[in-house]
Amino acid sequence: MSKSANNTTKIAIIGGGIAGSSVALQLGRLGLDVTLFEKSSSLVDGPPMCHLHAGGNLYREISEAQCVTLLKESIELLRLYPHAIDYRPTVIAVPLQDQGEAEHLYPRLNTLRLEYEALIKKDPLNQVLGQPQDYFRLYERARIEALIDKDDDQTLDHLDRWMVPVAKSIDLNKVKFPLVMVQEYGLNMFRIAATVTLALNTLKNVSIKCNTRVSSITKSENCWRVGYEKSTLEGNDSFDYIINAAGFQTGEIDDLLSLKRERLVEFKAAYVTRWKTALNQWPELVFYGERGTPQGMAQFTPYPGGYFQLHGMTNSITLFEDGLVKSSALSAQPKLDQKYIEKITKSWKFTDAIRRSQSAIDYLSNFIPEFISGQVASKPLYGAQQIPGEDATLRAAAVSFDSERYARCEIVKASSVLTMADAITKELIKLNLLEPHSYGNRAFYEMKKMDENKITAQAEIFCKQRGYPTALAHRMVSNPNDLPS
Ligand SMILES: Cc1cc2nc3c(=O)[nH]c(=O)nc-3n(C[C@H](O)[C@H](O)[C@H](O)COP(=O)(O)OP(=O)(O)OC[C@H]3O[C@@H](n4cnc5c(N)ncnc54)[C@H](O)[C@@H]3O)c2cc1C
Repeated sequence: MSKSANNTTKIAIIGGGIAGSSVALQLGRLGLDVTLFEKSSSLVDGPPMCHLHAGGNLYREISEAQCVTLLKESIELLRLYPHAIDYRPTVIAVPLQDQGEAEHLYPRLNTLRLEYEALIKKDPLNQVLGQPQDYFRLYERARIEALIDKDDDQTLDHLDRWMVPVAKSIDLNKVKFPLVMVQEYGLNMFRIAATVTLALNTLKNVSIKCNTRVSSITKSENCWRVGYEKSTLEGNDSFDYIINAAGFQTGEIDDLLSLKRERLVEFKAAYVTRWKTALNQWPELVFYGERGTPQGMAQFTPYPGGYFQLHGMTNSITLFEDGLVKSSALSAQPKLDQKYIEKITKSWKFTDAIRRSQSAIDYLSNFIPEFISGQVASKPLYGAQQIPGEDATLRAAAVSFDSERYARCEIVKASSVLTMADAITKELIKLNLLEPHSYGNRAFYEMKKMDENKITAQAEIFCKQRGYPTALAHRMVSNPNDLPS
């Protein structure tokens, strides 16, 4: 008889980031006895996330196949966490000095539009990015210039309205045309943390152990013994199955089990700024550039209240010298330099945070001149992320199974969590620990019904606890029914 018949299958999940928390939600809903170990004081408190990569158009260098995967997975993530999405488009510009052209994106954009149509045909509820014909729109210079004098002009269509602040603010002499508007939305990490915490709290069969670090694992026959530490106390318990969702420290758990694995780990940061702009509804702005050069991609991500999160893919802004490291034959855990570990576990030096944040403001103001008056608003958002294998450009990755009764989560983008959770569900069915009908079961409907105000209140608490402005707990376009129609 399968263990699922009496729900006694015990699952240990190590790491309560978006991967571990989302799989806890899926397996908890299926009735398994889940324990989620997280060494921080709250869930989804690791590296930041601000883009829902619904098509991967920020990354020119990745394959069309990865873009299609990211589109499909992002639609699923949006349906799982609809209250954590900022429903605003992204505008991509190719700077004048860049080798590329916007038209290089057209084949991929057309493929993505067709894929989106096909996903809607399969399930009409997949229509969460607006109408397929609006998935992207090209803006030639004349069309942009015609928007410069428009204010809150209700005669403009919903896409052109998003373009007004772009037309008014960016230096049109520094970019090539057309600009590309694409329906890639924002992802709010504080709201994801709040949503998944509130949802897990309703499941009696899920035990969340925060401030608890898994420190040892041993195997005997079909059972794992997991040792953990909470403050000065130690404990241990037995489990049928282990899910390693330890983020950039996944290799530490692999090492405990003597499992070999190639992976990369990268330390990166984004900067929180405030700007007194008269314009209040912004799309995300992306200025392409070659990663790691002084002309690396620049990203301008809006939040309410005049807050903007900035990335600049140069070594003096988002990227760090020797910030990308790889595993070795001796250890599956890539070793980040101690100065980056200290940033993660302790804090940034004040001067360092100000210097990099100011560099980000200066960098973005090359394209948005008035943004030079932007100010540093808080400490940066930062952390390390893992990439399985050796290809630093890989963006769509999920989970691997190297040892029996052991899953290793290795998402690169948040959007891959349902692909990952499904693969784990399949494995549990194979092991007779879950009933076959459990596969493909989604929490979409329950999550949509969650109370928006409670999520906002909890997200504000997380912002305060973590030292960020409470405005980051909010979204600019908050009602899912405000979706472009
Ligand atoms: C600057 C930056 C910007 C990013 N922007 C985006 C974006 O816009 N969109 C996007 O999709 N992705 C983005 N990412 C990537 C994204 O942050 C990661 O892919 C995602 O956080 C990975 O989630 P995870 O749950 O696998 O890992 P994590 O979020 O790192 O969670 C792992 C958890 O495991 C815990 N843990 C580790 N070891 C133990 C242990 N022994 N015992 C108990 N707990 C343990 C950790 O405390 C941590 O909370 C960005 C990353 C960075 C660095």
